[in-house]
Amino acid sequence: MAKSENVSKGINTRLAHMGNDPHAYFGFVNPPVVHASTVLFRSAETMANRNQRYTYGTHGTPTTDALAAAMDELEGSAGTVIVPSGLAAVVLPMLAFLSAGDHALITDSVYAPTRNFADTMLKRFGLEIEYYDPLIGAGISALMKPNTKVVFTESPGSNTFEIQDIPAIADAAHAGGAVVLMDNTWATPLYFKALDFGVDVSIHAATKYPAGHSDVLLGTVSANAACWPRLHDTFRAMGCCAAPDDVYQVLRGLRTMGVRLERHQESALDIARWLERQPGVAHVLHPALESHPGHKLWSRDFAGSSGIFSVVLSGGGAKQAHAFLDALEIFGLGYSWGGFESLAVPVFLGDRTIAKAPAEGPVIRLQIGLEDVEDLKADIARGLAAAAGA
Ligand SMILES: *Cc1c(COP(=O)(O)O)cnc(C)c1O
Repeated sequence: MAKSENVSKGINTRLAHMGNDPHAYFGFVNPPVVHASTVLFRSAETMANRNQRYTYGTHGTPTTDALAAAMDELEGSAGTVIVPSGLAAVVLPMLAFLSAGDHALITDSVYAPTRNFADTMLKRFGLEIEYYDPLIGAGISALMKPNTKVVFTESPGSNTFEIQDIPAIADAAHAGGAVVLMDNTWATPLYFKALDFGVDVSIHAATKYPAGHSDVLLGTVSANAACWPRLHDTFRAMGCCAAPDDVYQVLRGLRTMGVRLERHQESALDIARWLERQPGVAHVLHPALESHPGHKLWSRDFAGSSGIFSVVLSGGGAKQAHAFLDALEIFGLGYSWGGFESLAVPVFLGDRTIAKAPAEGPVIRLQIGLEDVEDLKADIARGLAAAAGA
């Protein structure tokens, strides 16, 4: 289907076909997985002018083009680059839009490895890094400096799930001449269309829901027309291209992402509501709950919620958190999320400077997988009982 025919159709119809052009490759439904370094040129003249679509493996192949086209359709972006991990997708646009002496504003509830990159490499390269309150909204204009070149957003925030007023932040950032980057991993482009809300560059850890099976690492970076040339130049300069089989696996994952997300959303919300009524639970940090402080903003801007949220136990410390985690039989203890299986991790918030840890008790993050909800509730109940008895 051509892009123009596609936009009026339902999202699952579009996900089933986007990026694919079967008759460009003998009618096979899926694009070929192109393994390539060398691309041959027909003549010395073609070579001299680089006058053909593909020139070298690091610059793109029919496989990476298929995924980039799908992401552009989902994000409404002018161009997408595909990199080997979600963290690489964070790093690349920072390097594209920041130079020595610049000031960058980063939300305080940012993914911890993003903070680590900013605090180590960006500082070493002479950048001024400042963290801001995720709830700052239009107030960010007071933090803008003449050398502020990037405002980095992530909504909901990692582990604590604060919702940012992205349009207000984007307006203030643009008034000050900064580029707005957003780590949009939680919502996927299905539940938040970042560029429609003023974001210039939308970042995804495709490792999560797009891949969906805990077996692939990949990142995507999608830019609007103004930011695309610089992002693309930086991608080419760095050579951080992704492996073809991984790109293919994510393209495959996209076909089912809509239906998987519906199930993740439904199960996570059911469990979050149930958890709010359980003894031993102080709060549930899930923006689709009416009790969440960011719920109104979330309802205004987001089209859905995904399968990851946190629970704050009432009282206790590391001992109670460990008892909860060790009692789980279905939930695995492991990092990352977006796969088919449920996971739990203790949340560390010691690096926060503004969006501090809740005072009531330990925070545990739950990724709700595709298992049956009643089994997952029984597992969590085991955890809560163990924490209460610890
Ligand atoms: C997991 C994650 C990343 C990094 O993805 P990797 O592919 O694991 O490097 C980036 N941002 C957010 C919000 C994430 O949850």
